[in-house]
Amino acid sequence: MSNETKTDGWFPVNLLDNLQEKIARLNRRAARLGLEPLELIVTDEREVMPVGEIQGWDGNTGLPCSHTIFHTCARVQVIGKAPKLHGWFFVARIEHTDNTNLLYSVPNETVPDEYWQAEAWCDHCQTTRRRNDTFVVRNEEGEYKQVGSSCIKDFLGHDIPLGFWRVFRDMADTDWLDKNCYPPTAREFGLEGILNLTAAVIHKFGWRSRQTAELECKEATSDTVSNYYFHPPTKEQNRVQVTDTDKEQAKAAHQWAAALTDEQTTGNNYLTNLRAIAQNGTVTDRSWGIGCSIIIAHKHEVERRLRAKLASQRQATCEWIGEVGQRIEMKVQCLLVKEMESQFGVTTLHKMVDEDGNEMVWFASGTHNNLNTNEWYKVKATVKNHDTFRDVRQTKINRVKVVEELGAV
Ligand SMILES: [Zn+2]
Repeated sequence: MSNETKTDGWFPVNLLDNLQEKIARLNRRAARLGLEPLELIVTDEREVMPVGEIQGWDGNTGLPCSHTIFHTCARVQVIGKAPKLHGWFFVARIEHTDNTNLLYSVPNETVPDEYWQAEAWCDHCQTTRRRNDTFVVRNEEGEYKQVGSSCIKDFLGHDIPLGFWRVFRDMADTDWLDKNCYPPTAREFGLEGILNLTAAVIHKFGWRSRQTAELECKEATSDTVSNYYFHPPTKEQNRVQVTDTDKEQAKAAHQWAAALTDEQTTGNNYLTNLRAIAQNGTVTDRSWGIGCSIIIAHKHEVERRLRAKLASQRQATCEWIGEVGQRIEMKVQCLLVKEMESQFGVTTLHKMVDEDGNEMVWFASGTHNNLNTNEWYKVKATVKNHDTFRDVRQTKINRVKVVEELGAV
């Protein structure tokens, strides 16, 4: 019978460091006893696994609900030899319960059937007494012995096989999923529900980043979302309604972040994190804030695209007006009035559009306040030249004279 052991299983990514440390510590002790080390191989395979539930609140209804906790797990392998001490291999742990025994064996080892019924007997001290656990060991000749947990060190000369066994046990199955024996640092929450809630919170209160929140001494949006998620709503007026629009916005933002290309994320830590979170579909307590910001990052991206689209439309549709030197009469809307000072004195810049959306600028020397922003006028003006500004055709005019004030229309 070979005592070579190879086992694989799923292990929480956030806790891989702990496992690596545990195995390194075991290997250092094993080396002093002349035992072969365990080798841990972490593969690229990842899976998000639901592991439990936590009591929380439904931001939509204001009623208690439970949120699913996930762990992102990596597929890992442990390769090594079950350690042999004083001629004995560690085979299994027997958990003695009131009704029956539960057997947890090292991978590739089988436990003789009689141990399913065995009393908490110890072959070392030759007693039966109340014990929660006993251990089964085997020698090269296939002889089995049962030893109490307090005698295992005396019997084997060392308790290190227990450490090896625990690593194998952790790998052998996903027992840890049920037993909740891993610390909350590994817990993750479903991104979808959090994004829905974030969209609703932004809808109602606007977005406040952590930096802004600190400056204004107010609550950051991600903290508001967290409060809705974990704590009962205190005031009726502070509740949010997650609408279908919020859900659509959340879905679009999630899809956008998950589909970010390498070209977009290279050299940008923030977008790289955003994509990783979106693709994983969960956030941890630490990445909660970045997760929530997916909504606002997407909103900014949509606005940027819209501006670019409008700019390119204006490039295509804006035409020059009249002929250079021509005096024309037209209806215009004033979009901007801005005083500028230079070495030649004060100039007032006016930006205007006509009824077809064609752009005009008028640099009037001195201070002018006879055109108001957003209002329409019938004016007479002279075409000074045909120019372009940011690739958009723009007509420069001067000697502008208001014929009629038409109001905001
Ligand atoms: Zn004993």
